[in-house]
Amino acid sequence: MKRDEGRGRIAVVTGGASGIGLATASVLIERGWRVVISDINAKANQESAAKIGAESVPFDVTDEHATETAFADIEARLGPIEALFANAGVIQSGGRAENLPLAEFDKVIAANLRGVYVSCLAAGKRMTKRGRGGIVITGSVTASRTAPLHAYAPSKAAAVHMAACLAADWGRSGVRVNAVSPGYVGTPPVLANIERGTRDPKLLIEGSALGRMVDPEEIGRGVAFLLSDDASAITGINLPIDAGWLASSHLTTYGGVPPAR
Ligand code: NAD
Repeated sequence: MKRDEGRGRIAVVTGGASGIGLATASVLIERGWRVVISDINAKANQESAAKIGAESVPFDVTDEHATETAFADIEARLGPIEALFANAGVIQSGGRAENLPLAEFDKVIAANLRGVYVSCLAAGKRMTKRGRGGIVITGSVTASRTAPLHAYAPSKAAAVHMAACLAADWGRSGVRVNAVSPGYVGTPPVLANIERGTRDPKLLIEGSALGRMVDPEEIGRGVAFLLSDDASAITGINLPIDAGWLASSHLTTYGGVPPAR
């Protein structure tokens, strides 16, 4: 039986033209949400929206004026925004700290941290006034483990903590805020790195308990759960969706994850 968790309510997905955002938007539509996808890439946003039956309202989350205008426009045309997936983000190239240009550091922080805050505020200030709403922020397993990603990993740790800070601030106003932390997901930037030979898929898989990468739809199903009434008492958490990578990556010191019986 088709689930109707959304009941026609409006959900905004930032970074919705590709990868995890696009897959999540599709899951939310299947579950009865009316979804607006919002990506910095306006052309891809329009094409992806047409493909899955979403509304297209492109904007750049690092631009607070554009973000505010977009949220006002969505509410004026479609109605109250009841859910936000603050997912837009950029992945950086890995390497030694002293080789990371500060300009790249600033770019990553602007999108992954400041941009997440800007979109959460645009949604949260409207939701708190009405006394209801749900927000999910995209973190990463690098929020809780080191990586040679000296802007990206700290930006994700801060974004996960932001979910808890906002949850505490907005909880009495009926707004829940959570984070999901994807492990290695086969989205265009990750697949491009595999193709270029800069990431070895065997190593991405090896450290996970389940012995595989994660599908974008699996992140979407976790997000849909956190936004649904089934999660009505859940706020301020970070839900890893990582095929057990956080649980088992340290097993390298014991010779690796044990094989199947
Ligand atoms: P993706 O490149 O397929 O999707 C990200 C989308 O965000 C792109 O369409 C891009 O145009 C958009 N975007 C970038 N900057 C933006 C901005 N300033 N404003 C609006 N849109 C912007 O990548 P993805 O792998 O689906 O990544 C989605 C999120 O998941 C990111 O926050 C990423 O850090 C996170 N994540 C991904 C993985 C993974 O393995 N793929 C793992 C952990 C976390």
